[in-house]
Parts: sequence; structure tokens; C-alpha cells
Amino acid sequence: MDKLHSSPWILTKEACANHYQTDPAVGLSSEEAKKRLDSFGKNILKEEKKNSALVKFLSQFKSPVVVILVLATMISALLSEFTDAIAIFSIVIINSIIGYAQEAKAEEAVEALRKLSAPKGRVLRNGLIHEISSSHVVPGDILILESGDYVSSDARLIDSSQLQIDEAILTGESLPVKKIIEALSIEVPLSEQMNMLFASTVVVAGSARAIVTATGMRTEIGKISEMLKTAEVGRTPLQDKLEEVSNKLLIFCGIVVVAVALLGLLHEEYWFNVLMSAIGLAVAAIPEGLPTVVTLALALAIRRLTKRNAIVKHLHAVETLGSTNVICTDKTGTLTTGKMRVRDFFTLNESDSSEALEAAILCNNAGLGESGETGDPTEVALLYLGKDHGKTFALLSSTRPRIRELSFDSLLRRMSVIIEKSGESILYIKGAPEVLLPLCENEEAEKEKIMLAIEQYTSQGRRLLLLAKRKLDPLEINLERDFLEMKLTFLGLVAIADPPREESIPAILECRKAGIKVVMITGDHPATAKTIAKELGITIEGKFDQVLTGVELEKMTILELEEHIEKIAIYARVSPEHKLKIVKAWQNKGHIVAMTGDGVNDAPALKQASVGVAMGKGGTEVAKQAASMILTDDNFATIVKAIEEGRAIYGNVRRTIQYLLSGNLAEILIMLGAAILGWPSPLAPIHLLWINLVTDGLPSLALAAEPVPENVLQQTTKPSPGSFFDKNFYTELIIVGVLTAILSLGVYGLGLRMEDEMTARTHVFSFLVFSELFRAFACRSDKKTFFQMKWSSNGYLLLAVAVPIVFQLGLHRSKFFSTLFKVKDISWAEFLVLLALTLIPVSIIEMRKYYRHTIKHRKRGVW
Ligand code: ADP
Ligand code: MG
Repeated sequence: MDKLHSSPWILTKEACANHYQTDPAVGLSSEEAKKRLDSFGKNILKEEKKNSALVKFLSQFKSPVVVILVLATMISALLSEFTDAIAIFSIVIINSIIGYAQEAKAEEAVEALRKLSAPKGRVLRNGLIHEISSSHVVPGDILILESGDYVSSDARLIDSSQLQIDEAILTGESLPVKKIIEALSIEVPLSEQMNMLFASTVVVAGSARAIVTATGMRTEIGKISEMLKTAEVGRTPLQDKLEEVSNKLLIFCGIVVVAVALLGLLHEEYWFNVLMSAIGLAVAAIPEGLPTVVTLALALAIRRLTKRNAIVKHLHAVETLGSTNVICTDKTGTLTTGKMRVRDFFTLNESDSSEALEAAILCNNAGLGESGETGDPTEVALLYLGKDHGKTFALLSSTRPRIRELSFDSLLRRMSVIIEKSGESILYIKGAPEVLLPLCENEEAEKEKIMLAIEQYTSQGRRLLLLAKRKLDPLEINLERDFLEMKLTFLGLVAIADPPREESIPAILECRKAGIKVVMITGDHPATAKTIAKELGITIEGKFDQVLTGVELEKMTILELEEHIEKIAIYARVSPEHKLKIVKAWQNKGHIVAMTGDGVNDAPALKQASVGVAMGKGGTEVAKQAASMILTDDNFATIVKAIEEGRAIYGNVRRTIQYLLSGNLAEILIMLGAAILGWPSPLAPIHLLWINLVTDGLPSLALAAEPVPENVLQQTTKPSPGSFFDKNFYTELIIVGVLTAILSLGVYGLGLRMEDEMTARTHVFSFLVFSELFRAFACRSDKKTFFQMKWSSNGYLLLAVAVPIVFQLGLHRSKFFSTLFKVKDISWAEFLVLLALTLIPVSIIEMRKYYRHTIKHRKRGVW
């Protein structure tokens, strides 16, 4: 096959298969598919341009810091200060490599995510159904579609059952459309190509097979994709905030640098030395790494989350997760195990039980095959019930063939089948009791008995199904649903247990302690929902324990709902459509809401929610694409873990930045102090650059990667970028910066007085490097001291401190480096004294922490 057909809708399905050289029953062979992928390209809308490694590396030189450094190199070289030139230039290169590595790492993480969450679809190949990435679909593939799927390419329909497609994205028409198989004889516009499916539309009901006729940019959506520019991935609020802080600091640094330079000139230093010091100081003090710290911390969190069963689709979402304070979650399968078993089986008289069981098995689409259970867990439970009584679908269906199915609808909460048994047509129906009981024609006395049973089972937290039947006249079997599902005779009531997941209870408790509200949303009976909610510990007596049903919800205006929303813990008998209103009401009250969902109808609520959470196992493709996080284990506890990661991020970023800035402050104050005192410049540019490199580069990365601390939810308040830089943040920063500067100047002054300038510089240089490195250990936690934490839990940090220390010690010993760095060898005794001094600022922070968070709390009895 070499050419796409320009108007496949005029072809019969056979002619279409012929043109595309494919077999509707077998599909393409893998080799053929590969060939076509090569010649037609990937099924994607526009490939983004990717920068090559070299371009990425060179783009590092765009940063102002690097530009300053390159200038410094050139000036040094012009003045024949070749050692300086070489040293500075080497640092530029190392700096750029680190910058490049950081960016590459973050990008790699984001790329891996994109792959994980890329749309998937099913195609027929080599006679088997394969799930593949939608980007690998090629012309001639046979698409297998069912409700909840995205159509991944344009395709000619060849087979369908009760198919309904939402084509709003193409036509703007919000009502789903029906499709046909027959060929159209004339050229018709898009909206009338009734036998075609189009890329990016959604299967809202039914199932279908279709031959792919065009992929990628050749699809109808591809032709108009200029209009649909993909949303630019902007900065996150935290990145914005840091950008803002960086800019402010930049101005501050500029002023100090100029002041130091002017003071230097006043003291009649050689202008070149003054210039170089100013440059060195500027480079050391400018906090260029702040936004990168955030990106990296977010990317690392996403990687950890992927291992913990949550795929977060973009950096934004991690940050939002951290401030989430309401989780609206599905009950069935998320809070509960979804492993359902029938616990009670109620009939009015013994003789009904056999037919009730048959109804349960025949009105059922699940399977208990060799490869395990398939289908709806509720229906699986019914199959097990039948099996216990010696009845299986295989045994029954041969003599009771199915003629028609009216499929389960979460709005109607019922499903029925019409079967033929010994020449009679019978409708078997199952569904929610309060939906079906009014449709039953039993006597009042019987209905009362059934009501009693319903009450009893729901109060036990059981999921209920009522089974009923109706004998049909053969003429009736094609009637509309509403005319069929009436005049029923009650057969039985099935009470199914769906126990809470073990992990749900502690996860909910943790949320409660952290002030995060957990709201249960379910299609189940209110009494059932309430019982389970109590078992799970969701409700708080008198404060947060109301139950609202879908019907009541519908009657309320959004304002009325907002008035009560903070008391409503449970929404029962609701349909997916109601979720949107719930999300909006919470958001209008100023909350950050996570909402779970799995079906097509959940997509609007998932999009609206601050964090949309889709089910990875049971969810539809549409829900997964609409969500910003996918749970691969469908487990509620995983959402809570993700929120913990989000909270930890704020802490990590905040401490890393504090670490960076207090170091910078110390450097600035040292240079400024010396200039004011009229001392020769204590740190040469090369020293400042080196300190910048070893202390800012490695330990700050390791701090950003600090694992989630225990009880993070209870120990942090709801974070926001605004609350990030509070009084405490600055207090600690200033204490450390000033103290380090005073000690450094002391060391320097003493060296100047007792020994020579070279020795004094050597001392102050080593002192600063060591004190920065050791201080990193104190920056791992806001609350715990070094001795209260497991020192081995952040291996990166150990490495990030150990490597520079070895370098630093080696540097003094090596002739080459000590010339380059203009330092002399230091003795072990000197080293030990310096080491002892460096412990002073660290100890002060640690003691302050210990007092604030351990002693004070202990007194109040909170600990
Ligand atoms: P949820 O998943 O939130 O528990 P559903 O919409 O799946 O809610 O189910 C709502 C109600 O519909 C159930 O309580 C049950 O009575 C009924 N129901 C569920 N599954 C089926 C089914 N396969 N066939 C008929 N009725 C069902
Ligand atoms: Mg369900």
C-alpha cells in the first residue's frame, strides 16, 4: 500500500480493506506495521523540536553568571594573568557541565513521564489484539474501540454495536452521534461522513472496529491543529515565586558588589584585583540556581512517586498536590478493595431462589475464565454466588440464549438482558433496589418485607442488587428501554460485601490529623455509604457527617451547596455528572481539591479539579488523559502518599534555598566587612568561584533530593509559595550568615595579625568551605537535629559532602593546585582547629531547632 485514500467514506468496507491492504479479521502483520510506521511516520500531531545535547550545553552560556565569568577570563588573559584565566575558565566549564547535567536530568524525568502517560489504544495485529502507544498506529491498522476510548486516528468504520461518538472537538456539537457501516455514494462534508471516525473524538458508548485511513498530521484534526496549539507548559507558582525572589536578590547583590569595589579602590588596591574580586563576589552571591532547585526537586519527587504507584503528568501537579486539602474520592474499588463477594441472598420464598440465581448469572457480562476474573467486580461476585450453587454461565447460556442487552448505566443504575427459554422471551433485570422496587408489581406486604431486608443490609454496609424478571411478548422485545424495564416481578435481593482496603483507614486518619478532608463519592445506597464511611473513619460526628444524595444535589443551586459543603462527608447515589458541581463548590470556598474518576463522564470533573486523579487499572483512556495524576494501583492511600511528596517538596526547596542564600550572605558580608575594615580582600575570585561550585552545586542538589520525612502531613501546615519566605526563614538565614561571616573575619584577622596574608587567606578559605559543607547536614530538616535523623537516609548528601572535603584537603597538598588557588599547605592541627570552629554555627542552628521543636513541645505535652 502506498497512498492514503482521499475519500474512504465512498468505499464499501471490503473495498476499503482492499485499498489499505489489510484483513479486518487479522489486521496487519508486525513487519508490515513497522514498514508503514517508517513510511507514514508516527501518529502524532507535530513532533516537537528537540534541542541537541550540544545546543543544550551551549545554552548554559547564556546565563548572566557565565557571561560575567567569560568576561573575567578574557580580561585576565589580556592582562597576562594566565593562571587566573585558566582557573576561571575551567570553573566556567565545570559549572556549565553541572548546569547541563541538572537540566538533562530534569528533562529526562519529564520525558519518561510523557511516555508513561502517553495515550494508548488497541489494534488488531497478527490476528491478536495488542495494546500499543497511539503514536504507533499506522494506516491499515484495525482499531478496536470501546466506550471510554479516544479514537487515535481517522478511520473507516467496519463493525459497531450501539456506538456513540462525541465529536465536539471537531464539530462543536455536544450531543453524541451515531454511526453507520454502509458506504456513502457521494462526496459529503465532514459532518455527514457517518461511516468515518475521527482522531481525538471520544467513544462514549458501545464498541467498534475500524480501518485506519489517516494518521498524524493527515487526520482531520491534524489539518486544523494549528488552531489547537498545545497548551504551553508554564512555570509553576513556586518557580514564579523564586524567580521573583532571585530578581530582588540580584539588585541587592549588585549594590553590595559596587560598594565593595568602591571601598577597594578607596584603599588603593590595584584596579585589576578590585575588578576581579567584584566579579568573583558577583558570581558567588548571585543566586542563579533557585528555579533549577525547584525543577529538580519536583522532577525527583515525580520519579519517586512513579515507584509508589502514582504517575504524575506534569511538574505543576506535584506542587498542587502539596497544598491539596480536600480529597473527593470514589468509594468502590478505591477506598474499598473492589474484591466483592455475596454475603446474603434474600428471596420471598424458597422456590424463587433457583430462577433468581439464573437471572444473576445471565444478566451479567463478567467472566471467571482460566486467566482470572474479567469485567465488573459487582458482576463477578454474582458469578461466584452462582458457582457455589452449581450454576455457571456456560451451563445456562446454551439453553437460554441472549437476544438483547440493555447495558448498565450509572445514571439509571440498572441493567437487563432479554433471553429466550423454551420458546419464551424473558427479561431479567438487576440494579439498585430503590430504582427497581417501584417498578415491581408485587403486593404491598411483600414489598414491605423486601424494604425491611434492604434496610438491614444497607446498615451493614452492603452493596445491594435487586433481581427481577418480566415475561415478554415476542413483539415487545425491540421496544425502547423505558417500555421494557417495567411491570417487574421480584426475584431476589443480593447483599455484596466490599471490604475497605487495609491501607485506607490509616491513610484517612493521617489526612484528618493534617486537616485534609476526605469526601466519599459513590453510586451506592446512602445507608451503605454511611456505614462504610464510619468504618473508614471519614465522618466526624456533628461536624462532617452529612449525606447528600444525587437527587438532593441536583435540586440545590451551587450557592446552596457551598453553604453546606463543609459538612457533607458523603455523596451517595450520585452520577459522574454531579462531581463537577461538588468540585466547583469546594473550590469556590477556596479549597484545593483532588477528585478521582474513571469513566468518560468523569472527565469534566477531573479537568476542573486542582488535581484530577484517574484510575490506572479500571480507568478509561479519556479519564487518564483528563487527569493530572494516574494511580496505577487504584488505591486511595496512594493519593495520600502523593500529597506527602508534594508537602515534602515545599520543605526541601525551602531548606535548600535557605542553605544557598545563607552561604551567599556570609560571602557577601565577609567581603564587605573586610573592605570596611580596610583589610586586603580575604577571598580571591578563584576562591569564591570554588566555594560556589562545591557548596552550591553538589550539596544543594542532595538537599533537594531529601526523602519524605515521617509524619510530614501533620508536621507541616498547608504550604503556599506566599507563606514560603516567613519570618523564621529569614531569621535562620541571617543568624547563620552573620555568624559565619563574623567567625570568618575573626579567623582572617587573627591570621593577618599572627602570620602572613597567604596563611590568613588559606585559613579563611578552608574555614568557609568546611562550614558550608557541614552546615548542609543541619539543613536536612526544619525540626529534627542531625542526631535525631538517620544519617544514612540521604546517601547523596554524604557523597556531596565527602567528595569536596577530600578535594579540599588534597588541594592544599598538591603543588599544582595550591599555586592555582594561591593557598599554602595546612597542618592537621590547623585543620582540626578550623573544623572545631565550623561546628559553631551548625551547633547553634541545631540547638535552636532542638529547643523549638523538642523541648518546647515536650513541655506542652504535644510531642
Ligand atoms: P459506585 O461505583 O460508586 O459504587 P455504581 O454506579 O457502580 O457506583 O453503582 C451504583 C449502584 O448501581 C450499585 O449500588 C448497584 O445497586 C447498581 N449496580 C452496580 N453495578 C451494577 C451492574 N453491573 N448491574 C446492575 N446494577 C449495578
Ligand atoms: Mg462502579
